[in-house]
Amino acid sequence: MDSAKPWLHHYENEVASTYEYPKHNLAHFLVQAAGKYPQKPAIYFMGKRMNYAKLLDACYRFANGLKQLGVKQGERVAIMLPNCPQCIIAYYGALMAGAIVVQTNPLYMERELEHQLVDSGSVVMVTLDLLHPKVVPLMSRTNLRHMLVTSIKDYLPFPKNVLYPIKAKRDGADLNVDWSDQIRSFRTHLSYASSDPVMAEVDAAEDVALLQYTGGTTGLSKGVMLTHHNLVVNTVQAAKWCYRSKDGEEIYLAALPFFHVFGMTVLMNQAILKSGMLVLIPKFDIEVILRMIAKLKPTIFPGAPTMYIALINHARIRDYDLSSINVCLSGSAPLPLEVQERFEELTGGRLIEGYGLTEASPATHVNPIWGDRKIGTIGLPFPDTESKVIDPATGEEAAAGEIGELVVRGPQVMKGYWNRPHETAAVLRDGWLYTGDMARMDEEGYFSIVDRKKDIIIAGGFNIYPREIEEVLFEHPAVKEAVAIGVPDPYRGETVKAFIIIRDGESLSAKEMDVWCRERLAAFKVPRRYEFRTQLPKTMVGKVLRRKLLEEEMELLSRD
Ligand code: AMP
Repeated sequence: MDSAKPWLHHYENEVASTYEYPKHNLAHFLVQAAGKYPQKPAIYFMGKRMNYAKLLDACYRFANGLKQLGVKQGERVAIMLPNCPQCIIAYYGALMAGAIVVQTNPLYMERELEHQLVDSGSVVMVTLDLLHPKVVPLMSRTNLRHMLVTSIKDYLPFPKNVLYPIKAKRDGADLNVDWSDQIRSFRTHLSYASSDPVMAEVDAAEDVALLQYTGGTTGLSKGVMLTHHNLVVNTVQAAKWCYRSKDGEEIYLAALPFFHVFGMTVLMNQAILKSGMLVLIPKFDIEVILRMIAKLKPTIFPGAPTMYIALINHARIRDYDLSSINVCLSGSAPLPLEVQERFEELTGGRLIEGYGLTEASPATHVNPIWGDRKIGTIGLPFPDTESKVIDPATGEEAAAGEIGELVVRGPQVMKGYWNRPHETAAVLRDGWLYTGDMARMDEEGYFSIVDRKKDIIIAGGFNIYPREIEEVLFEHPAVKEAVAIGVPDPYRGETVKAFIIIRDGESLSAKEMDVWCRERLAAFKVPRRYEFRTQLPKTMVGKVLRRKLLEEEMELLSRD
């Protein structure tokens, strides 16, 4: 066994330790899928299906339309859409034209959006009629030259049977938009463009496919440059690791948003690579999701832990047949053990935990699906991915079992941050990406995340990992969700405050929680304060916004 890579021997039973990655434009996967399965449905949305041939045709039109608008290779095209067909068409169409996609969160406020558009220098924005008022004032303050507007109701941006109406003037008449020379409807954009095949030649390892902004929950948002090769690699890694099915067989429940890197790679790109069908969920609504599972029988449901928590806690969960679900990949945040067990019991499928970050396209670690998984760990590094734990004090590799910073190296690791050489140099050294996550590796090469480096609470000189406290809180039968953060304390520097959501029909007091924690945690780790809430501030993929909780806390303190 290679002592520096103790995980390698696991691959023999599971999958190969190295894969082959084609060197092409990421959008080429769609051409392959449409070539093999033109009539297979690629998308299900609001009761209708779109097959691969039509999807490819629409993407070609989108790409040719961009060229008509004068968009050059390497220019940036921003997309601000929920999961809908137009989002997929714009994404692959932009890549086919050689543009760089900038994914934008539809929930952004004008200020956040402006930062992202200015920083990326985006020249086109694709968005919804409902969202376009946020963009209009930015047209004069950014490099935006054009805006393409569509509507969520505008299913498949052209009517049934009549593929591309040339009566473009009337297109968009139903949308509530202040049209101008710079703003045109998505439908018009497709109608006027040719459907001739177009695929920009790229240097896959060098040319950037995507600027994915990150740091929104941690500070100034930076554009992560992911090349075509980064994304091709991660899509192949995830697909080969997770699925043994033949192409064209899987149905993906697309509840994770595509504008987040997890949904983009592990759902959208992967479904296209596997010629599967994507069931698009534009907004996380547990009732809709349960109905979709029962009706369309998806086999794959990647998600964030909060999605699975919402599902298992649904009052009438037993009324729905969830048995089609075969594989679920959980990432973005720690997956509590009870959630994993209950979810598997309900579906009969496998829910496994993985790990990743935007800077790595995103996935770097995952548990074996069919082999030896280890609950509570993020599993093993993907094939062709190296990983180790570094002692932050010495910079040396930590021994198995020791806690340190997780670093990873592999072909899915970003090229760098867009226009930010200093920030890039701080996290990318010798090809190793310093993740900012504290982790440990066990003797067999399984990794566990202990916490975010910056979330560590230092109380009276002791390091406290919030995750350890959250696990104890979560074990209490009346607790539905729990978060622990460090808040200022005059004596100890910081102290622990816990935010708790109680399960429906249960009751719980701070006193009871205190007794529970004292029985299970060293005294210095026991939360000094509790707050019971009905909801917690979260990102779109369900990650709790700790910074927001801290800001609220600081505001309260400043008022005292
Ligand atoms: P993002 O760049 O938004 O995808 O966030 C990446 C961060 O999410 C990582 O640096 C981790 O802090 C966190 N994360 C992802 N997966 C896990 C996991 N399985 N357990 C704990 N934290 C995770």
